[in-house]
Amino acid sequence: MIRIEIDEQSGFCTGVIKAVKAAEENLGKEDSLHSLGEIVHNAEEVGRLWEKGLKPIDYEEFNKLHNATVLIRAHGEPPETFRHAEDNNIRLIDATCPIVLKLQKQIREQAEEFGEDRGSILIFGKSDHPEVRALVGQTKGKARVVRGPEDLDKIDIHPPLALFSQTTMNTLEYTRFQQIIKEYMREHGRDPERELVIYHSICGQVSSRDSLIREFAAKFELVFFVSGKNSSNGKALFEACKEVNKHAFFISTPEGSDKISLKDVASIGICGATSSPMWLLSAVKDRLSARLNITKS
Ligand code: SF4
Repeated sequence: MIRIEIDEQSGFCTGVIKAVKAAEENLGKEDSLHSLGEIVHNAEEVGRLWEKGLKPIDYEEFNKLHNATVLIRAHGEPPETFRHAEDNNIRLIDATCPIVLKLQKQIREQAEEFGEDRGSILIFGKSDHPEVRALVGQTKGKARVVRGPEDLDKIDIHPPLALFSQTTMNTLEYTRFQQIIKEYMREHGRDPERELVIYHSICGQVSSRDSLIREFAAKFELVFFVSGKNSSNGKALFEACKEVNKHAFFISTPEGSDKISLKDVASIGICGATSSPMWLLSAVKDRLSARLNITKS
C-alpha cells in the first residue's frame, strides 16, 4: 500500500506557536482584536484566525486607531510602534518571539556602544521584511540593510563594523556574505580580524530545518511542500527539497495537490515551512488519502 507521511519536524516554529497561542487566548476576551500585519506568512492560518475574530491591519490603519487592542506578531516592532500605542490608548499584546527580542537587545546595545559617530551596524536581510524594520528601529534608523556585494559600495562604512543577520536568512548565504565583507574591508585597507564583529543571529530552528527537510524529502518518491507563497522561509526550504527530490511540488492548499498524478507512486512525503500549520499538512494528507481511497486508521 502507498505510504503517506507527514514530516514531524515541519510546522510552526516556537515563535509562531507563541504568537498564535496569544491570539487564541485573547480572542473572545476582547470586543475586537487586530494584528499589526498578518500574524504568519500563511493565508490559510490567517483565514482560520480571521474567522475567530483576528483582523490584520496595516500601519496606515494602526496610525488612525485609538482605544483598541493590537497583537504584535513574532517579528516584533520598532520602538515607534510602542510609543504610538501608548499615546493613543492602544493595548498591545506583545507576541514578539523571544529569539527576536534577544537580537533586538543585542543590536540596541551595540548601537549604544558605538554612539553617534563611531562604527556602523549592518543587517544582512531583506529591507522590506517586518523583522528587519523592527531591528533597524532599535538603532534609531542608523543600521544599514545589506544583501550582497552591490550594497557595500552604496553605504558609508566606518569601522568598526558589527554585522547581524535577520533570523530567517539562509546560513550558507550569510557565511558567503561574511567572506565578501572581509574581502571588501581588506581591499579598503581595513583589518576584519580587529574591526569587524560578526553576530551569529540566524535562528537555530531555521538553520536546522534545511538539513532535516533534505533528509525527509529524499526518502519519498513524491513530496508535497506546503507553504504560503509569500513566505521567504518557504521558498528557501522548497528549494532544498527540490535539490534532493525532483518530484517535489510546492502547494499552498490541499486542493493544490489535485493536479499532480499519484499513479504508480509508492511513497509520498508532506512537509512545510516554519509558517505552515500542522493542521494544513494533515488536511493535505486527508485529501491524498481520499484520492487513493485510503481509510484513516
Ligand atoms: S524563525 Fe526563530 S526567530 Fe523567527 S519567529 Fe520562529 S523561532 Fe522566532
